[in-house]
Amino acid sequence: MAVLPQDKIVAVIGAGTMGAGIAQVAAKAGHQVLLFDAVEGAAQVGIERTAKGLDKLVQRSKMSEQDRDALISRLQPCNSIEDLAPAGLVIEAIVERLDIKQQVFSRLEELCADDVILATNTSSISVTSIGAALQRPERLVGMHFFNPAPVMKLVEVISGVATDAEVAQTVFETAAGWGKLPVMARSTPGFIVNRVARPYYAEGLRVLQEGGADVATIDAIARDCGGFRMGPFELMDLIGHDVNYAVTRSVFDAYFQDPRFTPSLIQQELTNAGYLGRKSGRGFYSYAEDAPKPEVMTASSGQMPEKIQVRGNLGVAEPLVALAREQGIEVDRSNHQKVGSIQLDGLLIALTDGRSATQISAEQQQPNVVLFDLALDFASCNRIALAKSDQCSAEAFDKAVGLFQALGKQVTVIDDVPGMVMMRTVAMLANEGADAVNQQVCDAEAVDIAMQAGVNYPRGPLAWAEAIGLEWVVNTLENLAAGYGEDRYRVSPLLQRKVFSGQGFEFNNA
Ligand code: NAD
Repeated sequence: MAVLPQDKIVAVIGAGTMGAGIAQVAAKAGHQVLLFDAVEGAAQVGIERTAKGLDKLVQRSKMSEQDRDALISRLQPCNSIEDLAPAGLVIEAIVERLDIKQQVFSRLEELCADDVILATNTSSISVTSIGAALQRPERLVGMHFFNPAPVMKLVEVISGVATDAEVAQTVFETAAGWGKLPVMARSTPGFIVNRVARPYYAEGLRVLQEGGADVATIDAIARDCGGFRMGPFELMDLIGHDVNYAVTRSVFDAYFQDPRFTPSLIQQELTNAGYLGRKSGRGFYSYAEDAPKPEVMTASSGQMPEKIQVRGNLGVAEPLVALAREQGIEVDRSNHQKVGSIQLDGLLIALTDGRSATQISAEQQQPNVVLFDLALDFASCNRIALAKSDQCSAEAFDKAVGLFQALGKQVTVIDDVPGMVMMRTVAMLANEGADAVNQQVCDAEAVDIAMQAGVNYPRGPLAWAEAIGLEWVVNTLENLAAGYGEDRYRVSPLLQRKVFSGQGFEFNNA
């Protein structure tokens, strides 16, 4: 059995945020769905909530009335767990507690046929541990949907130690048949998304802690330069600091306190203060009606240069050269240097590589050094972040500001933190993704699909690292590791290996 046949009944336990949405997905795919919740009436309430959501789709002509009615007619509330006996697939979305999940699945084993597939939507509990309490743990698999389940495409299909490969394959293909983008992963803390996403928050928090920039400016860099939908701080405010901090802590502890995942004191303090984000009216930002809109640090106008020299190839930042030419700036090129840079009246301008501008100034005995941060697309981004060395003169720095403004970018100046904001974040996301692959959690394609479909990243971290150049990413991480002297930035052996071999990641759809 590769796909769960449409005539098989699907049962969903737990009719809260996730359960009601999952039930909707299964019913939309044509299954008869039984919905059960321990709280009396909650399943009915969940179905009514779904119906209201579908009404809006009908009003916006995104769904026909007929399809809505048919979908709702396939959702059946149940009063007792015994009613779920005829199901061929049961998806559990109840409270996040190991003991209660084990009890529920043990009861389901007694009630349902031997070939039933039992799936858990747990975000953080080991599928292996839940299965340990069962008679037939091979029938249990993780089916991790993302919120809101009817909208988000990703489903992580998680195999515990005992999970039968065929059961996982059936759930994978069934999710695909339901219009989802499934990925396979082994049961390890955080699975793929909640593990690989940690540096998105952590590196922003590190830059903030070191006074690199304020929250609104870091968020603007992530959005405008990185192409992320939300910056790390607005996203943490939305998720809630209690929730985000708890996930970070649990991943940190689950990996035996690997410094890669060390939580942030800043977030701990916000949680302690009860500044939980949007839901409490205050987090990194204030959500009071009269709260002033936080300003993003943007430099005032500088002067456009007439001429620049470009030494070597700028790599991922090469589109800047074409932009300069388009603006009528004379570009003098020499291609002998391995590492690219822009020279402007004795000022060195380069893409950050994990060293501070101040360090490069000292190493190259060149006082005027300005670094720019990574952008998703240097041709089209509307903002660029710059940092100058402590040795750099104000006059020289203004010339760098003027150059990037002439290229059509708003310029944001941050303090000289190593790796700036986006480069260190993307390097660490790719590093974590590579480690997940190296540790056999999933394949490279799964990492990139998961981060795009589960949390809307503009590009998969591994494909993004390849676009930057894996050697550059590894160099950045090595420089961060050397500069901070922290194991946190140690390079994934798989990234090292890819650089040695000169081979990229294998993406099946490449
Ligand atoms: P929720 O609190 O909104 O809903 C849980 C529902 O389960 C409640 O209606 C509750 O009455 C019911 N319930 C509790 N114990 C039960 C039992 N023994 N039998 C039957 N019903 C029971 O929670 P949620 O956010 O929907 O999360 C549910 C699961 O999904 C958790 O394991 C969570 O980790 C996971 N998850 C949540 C999200 C999210 O963003 N909320 C995303 C992915 C996965």
